[in-house]
Amino acid sequence: MRKNIVAGNWKMNTTLPEGIKLAEEVNAALKGFSAKCDVVICVPFTHLASINNVIDKELLGLGAENCANHVKGAYTGEVSAPMVASTGATYVILGHSERRQYYGETSETLREKVRLALDNNLTPIFCVGEVLEERENGSYFEVVKCQLEEGLFNLSAEEFGKIILAYEPVWAIGTGKTATDDQAQEMHAFIRKTIEEKYGKEVAENTSILYGGSCKPSNAAALFAKPDVDGGLIGGAALEAESFMGIVKAF
Ligand code: PEP
Repeated sequence: MRKNIVAGNWKMNTTLPEGIKLAEEVNAALKGFSAKCDVVICVPFTHLASINNVIDKELLGLGAENCANHVKGAYTGEVSAPMVASTGATYVILGHSERRQYYGETSETLREKVRLALDNNLTPIFCVGEVLEERENGSYFEVVKCQLEEGLFNLSAEEFGKIILAYEPVWAIGTGKTATDDQAQEMHAFIRKTIEEKYGKEVAENTSILYGGSCKPSNAAALFAKPDVDGGLIGGAALEAESFMGIVKAF
């Protein structure tokens, strides 16, 4: 059975002391509360090892926000999947629209990153989603299908079974403009159907598909109530323990 998951994406926010404090607050809030979903925080590289030491991994998963498309070597400034794994992290966000848009990440690069993540026992949280223009000109199904095919469909069914997907309409990220729960459901059902066509019903049914884009405590319950929405990837609202927990509690 697929899992319900709420994952935070802290992006380039918090200094190390601030990040440790936030992780400790989320961890404390999860103690004595039986969450009906897996909870994960994806944090800056600089924070991983320290946060790994202060959280209870039974309660709270830890991930990076990216990794390199090479294992090691002369790539100044890059952080590899083995490096991420060596901190204790077990998840990595790949293909976030901000990486695609500002750092020119292509499907080819992403295939390499996914391969290295899997080789190092990191669970990729793989992001797909259309920009506003594509939503408005009606090409959004095609765009998302292409991102799935080019980024992931080289994987075997067994490998694909290890991926968590996040549908993040770019026009909804950090804008306060959430996709309606019906828009999210429509795309999530389409994504599941696309997976089924490639890998069969069992793989499709077992894939967790998270929604991301201005998800907050006030709209999370309606989104998560949709049959194909298995949780959320949360940006802004993950930066305070109270609002992040408000979303966790929406399940
Ligand atoms: C994100 O960037 O993954 C995201 C969902 O951001 P926000 O929740 O701030 O829209």
